[in-house]
Amino acid sequence: MAQRYVRIQNQEGKIFYGLLQISLNVQLLDAPPWLGGQPTDVYLEVDNYLILAPCSPSKIVAVGKNYAAHAAEMETEVPEEPLIFMKPPTSVIACDKEIHYPPQSQRVDYEGELALIIGDRVFNCAPEKAHTKIWGYTIANDVTARDLQRKDGQWTRAKGFDTFCPLGPWIVRELNPGARLQTFLNDDTKPVQSACIDEMVFSPDVLVSYISQVMTLLPGDVILTGTPVGVGELHIGDRVRIEIEGIGRLENTVTANTHKKL
Ligand code: MG
Repeated sequence: MAQRYVRIQNQEGKIFYGLLQISLNVQLLDAPPWLGGQPTDVYLEVDNYLILAPCSPSKIVAVGKNYAAHAAEMETEVPEEPLIFMKPPTSVIACDKEIHYPPQSQRVDYEGELALIIGDRVFNCAPEKAHTKIWGYTIANDVTARDLQRKDGQWTRAKGFDTFCPLGPWIVRELNPGARLQTFLNDDTKPVQSACIDEMVFSPDVLVSYISQVMTLLPGDVILTGTPVGVGELHIGDRVRIEIEGIGRLENTVTANTHKKL
């Protein structure tokens, strides 16, 4: 099994990066791994830590309509160049945490996606060099309030609610380019999304290069590479699970937002 890089919180509330062992104990690193963090002699047992999202990005840059069949289901063309937007860092939640259904929306969708973790400061990077800037891979759910996306004409609100970016559960460094992404709802054994990541219109290298010509990417930043065909609705009480071969599974439940309506 590939090495799994995690971010965890100990019982005193301190946050560490670490290596997840087969036993589920975590060997702590002395810094984020993309900043040269090295393994220490300290191990935390499974009952003594909480798993967090595997990085703490300064920004999340996402890509729309990057699978042709998904663009078609949205009744739009594949864009001629990558269509990018952002999700705020405050939208990130860990595996097993709850997605809060916002009271402003009547239609919230899942979007299973491959996430890239940036390992370096990247500006104006050629596509041929971009693979050296991708430190690793994890799984994301680009949760979207579809009705607000249509209504607003731009996507900040629809994509930006707190809890709208489940991320994790860990990072791996290598990924088979033909790995399959699948999304499952509740106890259904038939996936609602199933595609190979090499069906992307713009590859990870092209995306990193393209985005780096707009803004500097920082170590630990996250790029969401777009969702395949089969997006659909979430309801309060649903469990949504996204699996990518060679990484693992990201699972979250949907709950009512308990914030007081203003
Ligand atoms: Mg998306």
